[in-house]
Amino acid sequence: MTQTFFVLGDQLSTGVEPWPILSPDNVILMIESEALICQPRHLTRVGLYLSAMRNFAQELRQKGFVVDYRRAADFTQGLHDHQREFCPTEISMNAPRGRHARALFLRLGVVLLPDPFFLTNVEEVRSRPKKPTSMEPFYRAQRLRLNVLMEGTEPVGGQWNFDTENRKPLPRGGGTWPEPWSAALTQDEVALMNELAPTHPGANALDVWPRTRAQAIEQLHDAILRIIPLFGPHEDAASSDNWHLAHSRLSPALNMGLLHPAEVVEAVSAAFAAGRIPLASAEGFLRQIIGWREWVYVLHHLRTAEYEQENFLAATHPLPESFATMGTHEMRCLNAVLRHLHDYGWNHHIERLMVLANSATLSGMNPLALTRWMTGAYVDGAEWVMEANVIGMGTFADGGDTGTKPYIGGGNYVNKMTNFCKGCAFSPTERIGPAACPLTTLYWDFLIRHEAPLAKVHRIAPQRKAALARPDRAEITAQAPNAVAIVLGRRHSSP
Ligand SMILES: Cc1cc2nc3c(=O)[nH]c(=O)nc-3n(C[C@H](O)[C@H](O)[C@H](O)COP(=O)(O)OP(=O)(O)OC[C@H]3O[C@@H](n4cnc5c(N)ncnc54)[C@H](O)[C@@H]3O)c2cc1C
Repeated sequence: MTQTFFVLGDQLSTGVEPWPILSPDNVILMIESEALICQPRHLTRVGLYLSAMRNFAQELRQKGFVVDYRRAADFTQGLHDHQREFCPTEISMNAPRGRHARALFLRLGVVLLPDPFFLTNVEEVRSRPKKPTSMEPFYRAQRLRLNVLMEGTEPVGGQWNFDTENRKPLPRGGGTWPEPWSAALTQDEVALMNELAPTHPGANALDVWPRTRAQAIEQLHDAILRIIPLFGPHEDAASSDNWHLAHSRLSPALNMGLLHPAEVVEAVSAAFAAGRIPLASAEGFLRQIIGWREWVYVLHHLRTAEYEQENFLAATHPLPESFATMGTHEMRCLNAVLRHLHDYGWNHHIERLMVLANSATLSGMNPLALTRWMTGAYVDGAEWVMEANVIGMGTFADGGDTGTKPYIGGGNYVNKMTNFCKGCAFSPTERIGPAACPLTTLYWDFLIRHEAPLAKVHRIAPQRKAALARPDRAEITAQAPNAVAIVLGRRHSSP
């Protein structure tokens, strides 16, 4: 009697449960869903998942497993076709990370086993008498529980974080940054990308992302050797001339299951202990893995489907056309970030948060539309991780349920941390007039426009009070529609 184990494209590991107890008697099912492939997602993202899935299936066959690798109109059809052909007594799978996928496969009668790709058990968090209310206490509890950078019950170095050392702007002259890890495409991958290119936006950057477990391990070791030691100081900076700076770019490998967070934590902790990574960089990086990544995963499962509809600031504008096409934008900051996204299917955190999400929040783009666009545009995009990052941290659409204040900044902040403003037609220091930077105008307008909903957000009270007291308040409000039109790409003439 056949028992089927079904593997999704973000579960590409044999190093987790229940693989040790699977045998050649089990059929491993993998499905390429045309419904997903045909969506207008970034070319590199679609190619990355397909290539990694095909490589994984091949590795499984080499290990002696029977693999039913099939293409179907969608997962429902694929499961149905598999059942007809193999008549399995049971189909099981590791629980998908996304709420929608979990509901779908439960409905289809698939047995869901625990999700082994994280360090935190959601049910354990759910049952805690005092649930963590924000990332920081959750992170400190993770440090203790997982014994990461700890000396007994105290943090190594006597501090839980080194943010003050990690907030440096882009160095003068732009700095020099380690070349990204890459691996040449195989002939099959070249053929795959050629097949997908006519129907998907974005460039072919498959070579800079790992498509096999061996490549993912290579990328991790390369990141530990050349990149993570430099991560801390400039983690909040960005450059129009460099798309990666000192960011590890491990998110796709982690999100596809090619790397497990436990092995990343172990390897980085060992490099720190050996003196190869400074404490500020090691702590800054490990916080992302055991803190933020686990936190947004837990939040996704503690919340219900209604969460994605949250829209605290009633933001209804559609996204600019240039987001969908990843094309040009007359604001240099958006132009640079969209170019990076077009070329690589990825932006580092500051480009996502302080340029894309910031522009969206200030101009009133719809948060769910932004979430859906980002999910398809990014090589690491997924429902479980986008939700808290976009609806919560990025746009404050949940009114402070994820972050304690809106992450907003005007042109001056962007100009301080990046070189995006160089050569821009708009001036970051000007709020009013034809050359005013739309982000600067909208930063103040946002605080004035949302006076009522922001009244209870204590962490932004000083900025709100300063905005309300501005002598040029009326002019800012009058200028705002023009600034919104520029961000949304709906203005016809240049300044
Ligand atoms: C608006 C917005 C959208 C985002 N969308 C995604 C997404 O679709 N997929 C995704 O994996 N991350 C997302 N993030 C989080 C973060 O920006 C990326 O994980 C990070 O940029 C990946 O680059 P890296 O691997 O170099 O990260 P590093 O800075 O090197 O961090 C190491 C790892 O920590 C994890 N991590 C760091 N920050 C976060 C975070 N806020 N949430 C979850 N994991 C985190 C990632 O797995 C990352 O690989 C988003 C953030 C924002 C503000």
